[in-house]
Amino acid sequence: MSLSRRALIKHLGALGALAGTGGWSTLAQAARARIIPWRNWSGGQSCIPAARLAPASEDELAELLKSTRDMTVRPVGSSHSFSALVPTDGKIVSLSNFTGMIGHDPQTLQAEFWAGTPMSQTGEPLLKVGQALPNMADIDYQTLAGAISTSTHGTGPKFGSYSTNVVGLRLVTAEGKVLDLDKTHQPELFNAARASLGSLGIITRVKLQNRKAFRLHQKQWVQNTEELLEDMPRLVKENDHFEFNPILHSDVSLAQVQNETTDSRTLAKEMGGDGDKVGKLAMANTYLRNHPDAHAALLNFLVKHLEFPDVIDDSFRVFANVRDQRFNEMEYEVPADAGPACVREILKTIREQNLNSFIPLEYRYVKGDDIPLSMFSGRDSCAISVHQYYDMDYHNFFAQIEPIFWKYDGRPHWGKLHTLNAAQLSQLYPRWKEFTEIRREMDPTGKFLNGHLRSVFGVQC
Ligand SMILES: Cc1cc2nc3c(=O)[nH]c(=O)nc-3n(C[C@H](O)[C@H](O)[C@H](O)COP(=O)(O)OP(=O)(O)OC[C@H]3O[C@@H](n4cnc5c(N)ncnc54)[C@H](O)[C@@H]3O)c2cc1C
Repeated sequence: MSLSRRALIKHLGALGALAGTGGWSTLAQAARARIIPWRNWSGGQSCIPAARLAPASEDELAELLKSTRDMTVRPVGSSHSFSALVPTDGKIVSLSNFTGMIGHDPQTLQAEFWAGTPMSQTGEPLLKVGQALPNMADIDYQTLAGAISTSTHGTGPKFGSYSTNVVGLRLVTAEGKVLDLDKTHQPELFNAARASLGSLGIITRVKLQNRKAFRLHQKQWVQNTEELLEDMPRLVKENDHFEFNPILHSDVSLAQVQNETTDSRTLAKEMGGDGDKVGKLAMANTYLRNHPDAHAALLNFLVKHLEFPDVIDDSFRVFANVRDQRFNEMEYEVPADAGPACVREILKTIREQNLNSFIPLEYRYVKGDDIPLSMFSGRDSCAISVHQYYDMDYHNFFAQIEPIFWKYDGRPHWGKLHTLNAAQLSQLYPRWKEFTEIRREMDPTGKFLNGHLRSVFGVQC
């Protein structure tokens, strides 16, 4: 593939800039730098960075950060964020060489991992030492650092986001200093770094508070959405993990509960992806979109006849799903009590305005925490997501729904699409000032800020 003229000029510019900073190691980095366009999982975000780098060691990472003076540096995980957290024309730095478990403590049930470890590679090593994460997200493709940086979460009112499981971390700062942080070493900085969007430094190691390994029993069923909402207080109270997915333009939802069990394993969870089911919803949408009554009747019929076998297996195998149908997503966290009213209003708006989307909503609960930039800071929350198929325009759809989230005092998920800037975000976070002061102190020149983060934190160019 030939390089475009623009990319070539950028390439030469990057080499020049790096060489200009002096030193053999900088030149060696430049030689290793390869100009490769970057895009996220959904394809909705992309950029042509000056360099994509994967340091081989903490020393090399520290040197890279120290020697970069004239460019933005953005850490990247598995590129599974929908929002523009990563794109830059500077350097994108991956910790793909920092993977695996470093050590564990059988007394405290804590384990330390390299920060670039994909969540999918945490389950087996933890099981081998009798540990497990207390809760996990809908997928496990994220890296550990990427997941904690946006307070990625699963569901269950007694469970916080991944950030709350972090009891220690190592941060390499903008100036290349290596800091080991926990609740006794620079506790304010530690707490802020547990959810920090890659804006305080690059995290290389994460120590997690786990629990004893356990099995989960998953049940799924289809139910009338209004009936389910009526019964929801009981379902949330009686189950460890409850969530449901309203099927757009229908009267029904897919409900799911997961509970700890000592029962024997069943057949493994089907991990074939969701293409088949999403494909049926897409087809119904294509042919019946302009006939709302027939559309609803067909969906009610189709979905009610789906079968979902119960699954019992090791927790991490039950939590994770395969999402092979790409989409873009907006998610807001509203106060837990406001969840039912908010989701009802969203469903009513989609139905009444016949908004063009067919991927089900997602509705979950997350426990509040004390982390300044976590979406769950200071309040138990209900997480509600809307999705749009990757090759359909999401702007009109999301623009109709986002004001409903605002009405219910929602905070946007940092890794998902939203349109808020610092003026609005600062009103939503009680500890906003605390975080932004720490950020200014840690990165006074804005090395870690791309355009999106400048807007989020209200920093002028
Ligand atoms: C199909 C799908 C399903 C999802 N399901 C859920 C879900 O169930 N729950 C949920 O809450 N979210 C969910 N998400 C969102 C996703 O978990 C988050 O956006 C997460 O941050 C992505 O992790 P990543 O490793 O891909 O990081 P990236 O998207 O690459 O980066 C995310 C952030 O982390 C920072 N970062 C990455 N590595 C480092 C590092 N070493 N040091 C410092 N900062 C770093 C980046 O700079 C960026 O700010 C889902 C996303 C997709 C695409």
